[in-house]
Amino acid sequence: MDNQILRGIPKVDELLKSSALQAACRGLASQTVTETVRQVLEELRGGVLAGEIAELPDSQALCARIAARARAASLPSLRSVINGTGVVLHTNLGRACLSGRAAAAVEAVAGNYSTLEYDVAHGRRGLRYSHVEELLCRLTGAESALVVNNNAAAVLLILSAMAAGGEVPASRGELVEIGGSFRVPDIMESCGALLREVGTTNKTHLSDYERAIGENTRALMKVHTSNFRIVGFTESVPLGEMVKLAHDHGLPVIEDLGSGCLVNLEQFGIHGEPTVQDSVRAGVDVISFSGDKLLGGPQAGIIVGRRELVEQLKNHPLTRAMRVDKMTLAALEATLRSYADGTAAEEIPTLEMLALTPDTLRARAENLCTMLTERGVHAEVIPEQDQVGGGSVPTQLLPTCAVAVTPVGCSVDALEEAMRVRERPIIGRIAHDRYLLDVRTLREDEFACVAQALTETAL
Ligand SMILES: *Cc1c(COP(=O)(O)O)cnc(C)c1O
Repeated sequence: MDNQILRGIPKVDELLKSSALQAACRGLASQTVTETVRQVLEELRGGVLAGEIAELPDSQALCARIAARARAASLPSLRSVINGTGVVLHTNLGRACLSGRAAAAVEAVAGNYSTLEYDVAHGRRGLRYSHVEELLCRLTGAESALVVNNNAAAVLLILSAMAAGGEVPASRGELVEIGGSFRVPDIMESCGALLREVGTTNKTHLSDYERAIGENTRALMKVHTSNFRIVGFTESVPLGEMVKLAHDHGLPVIEDLGSGCLVNLEQFGIHGEPTVQDSVRAGVDVISFSGDKLLGGPQAGIIVGRRELVEQLKNHPLTRAMRVDKMTLAALEATLRSYADGTAAEEIPTLEMLALTPDTLRARAENLCTMLTERGVHAEVIPEQDQVGGGSVPTQLLPTCAVAVTPVGCSVDALEEAMRVRERPIIGRIAHDRYLLDVRTLREDEFACVAQALTETAL
């Protein structure tokens, strides 16, 4: 019996030559199709031998199965998604979206030779970091700048170069852990620096730092508590006072600023996020921040500060191990140019999304909702609140609108999954038994695709 079924399984070559399979797999790479045919036929054989398959699929079903499998295998693993979560800096979804200008700059250098380390004016070797250093200095007011792979690397470099073998007092209330188990105390330890915790969780006074300063002290450290806030009965030392104390003792102040904002976010209703310029002006000697959080650029760790200290960092052996590539530099230069040109708020998606007003968000949600209801999908606009994400401004929620969909043809869980596993995944969330898409992070040019997907699935 089994033998008879086994004999019914087509041969790899025959199947590959069949017009039914060729039609089903049009456009797919022949290597992938061949590989998939082998796999699927092998599975059938195994299933028959194990007694799990008593009847073979017909030719059409078999070809469809192979085509679906081959198509899935052809999709890039890293691919773009539609973000319906409303979280602007979603770490799992790649944090900041680059501006069109930055993406174009990446494309221009990616497939071509470039001026990465070549000085065209003089026809000789140039410096990789020259493309962004002047812009960073101009924008932040700092004397010198350096860029490494991410802010975690920047902190590691700074502490290794400036504090190894010595002590660094830092406030107990600022010893953060950010996503991916980056902990300031652990970084400090791995650099061979001794962390001197000062103050208590909720209060640190200037005198706490003063008492901690001894002959092994190398620097005072300030860490921006990006992803949490201690609220209530709290006190921290103003940056200016900390700088004065350190400088009176001949010590530098280093600051891990986390997000690294270059514009005042008060204009978007986001309060208390310090800018890099504030820290430079307060006299902080070395400041580090991320390129892909509120700055809205590529993943990078940006260091700005006093010339002689940044020079010391540039010459440290770790810097070579953390160096950024041409694509990062291209994207960062273009992003910084938007700030320099005064067009950042219009060009950089992160700022654009944060700047959306409640009225605009409502109008957008109404648009999407109308598209859906016209197609017969049960949808409604509801008020929602957004987090900025990426460990930025954790306690403030921004008012927004979401479109809430009630599926008819399937459960809400099945809808969420079907949207997520599409070729262009759509990421939403479930609340109160409805499927929610938040319009702050949806682009208007994505609405048609979202409406199509919901019509296919939710009806
Ligand atoms: C996000 C963050 C970091 C890490 O930055 P990456 O660019 O993700 O490496 C370090 N410190 C603080 C305070 C942060 O918020």
